[in-house]
Amino acid sequence: MCDEMLRGLGKWLRIAGYDTAIAEPGSADRQILEMAAKEQRLLITRDRDLARQRLARGRVLLLSEQGMAAWAAELKRKLGIDWLYRPFSRCLLCNCPLCPGPGPLASLLPEHIVRDPDACWHCPTCMKPYWAGSHVRRMRNRLRRWAMNDSDAKV
Ligand SMILES: [Zn+2]
Repeated sequence: MCDEMLRGLGKWLRIAGYDTAIAEPGSADRQILEMAAKEQRLLITRDRDLARQRLARGRVLLLSEQGMAAWAAELKRKLGIDWLYRPFSRCLLCNCPLCPGPGPLASLLPEHIVRDPDACWHCPTCMKPYWAGSHVRRMRNRLRRWAMNDSDAKV
């Protein structure tokens, strides 16, 4: 689970295929910690005050680095996150596992993609379609860099 400040990192964890909750905007610390406990999630945060609370004991990873590439390296080092775990298997908006095929919003997709049902997926909750286009290639390249990067190099 990522707190609101780490929403971007949470989306990248979903893109890599990890089951990731993201705290709702404006959630109180207590709500966030209770949700993490109830769903048995590890909370990732940069908020020292949040990490210091009694409810946080044993359930919080406090990130010390700055910036996405450094956090990616920190998660790989501390939690063994594999950035190529199951790329593009979850909706980055809802965290739901994706279903094969274009789904009900097929009309938004390029025609040659819709004709090849193996090249597209959709979210069963928000219906957002995903397909193997150039944006997916770019994201995959970024995951590949993070997966191979053994140092804390700022990329
Ligand atoms: Zn969705």
